[in-house]
Amino acid sequence: MATRLGIFGGTFDPIHVGHLVAAVNARHQLDLDRVVMMVANVPWQKAGTRLVSPAEDRFDMVLAAVGDVPGLEASRTELDRGGPSYTADTVAEMARANPGAQLFVIVGWDVSAELASWERFEEVREMASLVVVNRPGTPPPVGLVQQGWRVEEVTVPNLDISSTDLRARAVDGRPLDYLVPGPAVRVIRERGLYSVSG
Ligand code: ATP
Ligand code: MG
Repeated sequence: MATRLGIFGGTFDPIHVGHLVAAVNARHQLDLDRVVMMVANVPWQKAGTRLVSPAEDRFDMVLAAVGDVPGLEASRTELDRGGPSYTADTVAEMARANPGAQLFVIVGWDVSAELASWERFEEVREMASLVVVNRPGTPPPVGLVQQGWRVEEVTVPNLDISSTDLRARAVDGRPLDYLVPGPAVRVIRERGLYSVSG
């Protein structure tokens, strides 16, 4: 049977349990062989609106958080390619590297509402199925099937967690523990990311 490969893209600044719960449940529910946490090099839709942590630091947090969870991986593909991270390029690269694989692009509800703003989204729609995961704070998507997407829905416990809130917590000195996996919290402390030290 063809390899079933999930691609979960994000800025992961920082990675949190909302991302990881979505990833492992997508893998389970859709019987994916693996899910790669695809760290954006330059998140072009965020650049200019706020300071984004260095890509290597975000990657190391993802690597630490993923640990040895079966079927979950951290990917450097977008870092190694450099430049702005377009999912269309990433999906094409994953297709080339995994001939015959069935590709699944995993997004939360908020991102599923913005697909039309993606660079060459038609190519993504052509090459991959879309996996949509519920996320509190945004309504469920409408019209994706009518827009030609092959859609799979994955339901997870509602986790009202965002990297934006975690960065604010860090600046205020509030704990990140348990919202961010311990090994990733250690990377944050060791490098003084988000002004957290010790
Ligand atoms: P930020 O607040 O900086 O935008 P974020 O928490 O939204 O951070 P991203 O890296 O922007 O994290 O998101 C990567 C992907 O993870 C997106 O598809 C997003 O919808 C999804 N996601 C993030 N948090 C959750 C959550 N709590 N539940 C479900 N999906 C989530
Ligand atoms: Mg986001």
